[in-house]
Amino acid sequence: MNANLYSMFAETANRAGSKPLIVERGETGLRFDELDAVTARWAATLSATGAQPGDRIVVQVEKSVENILLYLASLRAGLVYVPLNTAYTPTELEYFVGDAEPAIIVCDPANAAAIGPLAGAATLLTLGANGRGSLADHATSHAAESFETVVRQPDDLAAILYTSGTTGLSKGAMLSHDNLASNALVLQDYWRWRGNDVLIHALPIYHVHGLFVALHLALLGGSTIRFHRAFDADAILADMAGATVLMGVPTFYVRLADHAGLTRGASSTMRLFISGSAPLLESTFAAFETKTGHRILERYGMTEAGMITSNPYDGERIPGTVGFALPGVSARIADDSGAEVERDTPGILEMKGPNLFRGYWKKPDKTAEEMRPDGYFITGDIATMDAEGRVAIVGRAKDLIIAGGLNIYPKEIELALDAVSGVIESAVVGISHPDLGEAVVAVVVREDETLEKAAILSAISDQLARFKQPRHILFAEALPRNAMGKVQKAKLRDQHSGLFA
Ligand code: ATP
Ligand code: MG
Repeated sequence: MNANLYSMFAETANRAGSKPLIVERGETGLRFDELDAVTARWAATLSATGAQPGDRIVVQVEKSVENILLYLASLRAGLVYVPLNTAYTPTELEYFVGDAEPAIIVCDPANAAAIGPLAGAATLLTLGANGRGSLADHATSHAAESFETVVRQPDDLAAILYTSGTTGLSKGAMLSHDNLASNALVLQDYWRWRGNDVLIHALPIYHVHGLFVALHLALLGGSTIRFHRAFDADAILADMAGATVLMGVPTFYVRLADHAGLTRGASSTMRLFISGSAPLLESTFAAFETKTGHRILERYGMTEAGMITSNPYDGERIPGTVGFALPGVSARIADDSGAEVERDTPGILEMKGPNLFRGYWKKPDKTAEEMRPDGYFITGDIATMDAEGRVAIVGRAKDLIIAGGLNIYPKEIELALDAVSGVIESAVVGISHPDLGEAVVAVVVREDETLEKAAILSAISDQLARFKQPRHILFAEALPRNAMGKVQKAKLRDQHSGLFA
């Protein structure tokens, strides 16, 4: 048996026949029955560079159908796929290329001159947003339409994905063929994936969410993808009739809920809206339900483990929670020493399962630091679990504020602030303070400028103990977010580090 993830997709592709795999603006970009021959040519092209199974291929290109072919061809050739955020500059790339030591680098033609000097012994190939470049040229001229998919063992690496860098330097998470296959199979069942599902795909494909969760489910299910290179609410709504599933980051749902075009009628063929990668505001969940009748299904995961928990498909989807550990995944909430805490008490979420990564690339010490002796991984997320096993994410351990020796969870304060009329959203951070160690500071986005600090403070004063109340409230036009919708708290802390100096 070949544990190469591609083999699993090849089977469903065979069954799906001439059905479209990718449709963009109404036009078929790729059919299932073309997949094998096209990826064979691409895989042959990659192998012809001399790259060996297990070698890394670093890819920083715009989202395109060809980018998906490149990913699948890398799997077939037994290479370890290393996608990078397209926002990284050539200077930032130096770290990733130095760390990953790739045999092949694929970049946008426009960046080739800047990236060339970093390539060293690696083969540099190009692929543009239009699908053209030296890689595509070689692949098109490659006669071979068959390619023996390289045999991989379940534990062999399929990809290294760098974490988003929200809390510090991005680390390369080593993911095996089995890590990815097992997670896709579990989600297929948990979300009741159907062969006739039509998925709207508007996520970037350098991150777990768009590359693995979304793409794998479509490939595995033999489902058609409605392909969007970026999120645009008008375009998504125009494409919704006939579609059945949307996977998005919370920002997608905020924008859709604000759009006059989002109605019950517009979403009448949809069966599932999934959100993840960052917390979904309860107000967004509620607004979305009011306008469409759909309860967004929120799930939780991370680069190191793919999907970990999910709200149920049939059972109650509760806003502000991320549901239950997926089948085969064990989760517990523990204190700093690894001892399990009482139910409904915040602690660090620890998990293990077949989806858990093979460690941080070239960082065995860092990997060891995050592992318990019994194999549980310390996620670094603070969460609670109720008696039924339902998990709610309270924040990140790195964002925990310790003011005057007391632990303060920013999420609790953010929830109180967000409930104040006139507040759109908020982010609470700890800023270094001469007496307290850290002081609670809130950055608030408000509906209009008449809402003042004093009014906000008085609105929350009877809900939060004095020590939790913000020492300072700052107003901002918007919270700093990355492409996955994650609030960049480190940026806020840096910006305001001198506040109490
Ligand atoms: P780094 O590890 O480099 O600091 P990162 O943790 O943001 O970056 P990712 O692996 O992309 O990188 O993101 C995983 C994190 O995203 C989780 O640990 C969690 O904090 C957050 N997350 C994902 N889904 C949810 C969700 N539904 N609700 C709240 N947080 C979520
Ligand atoms: Mg992380």
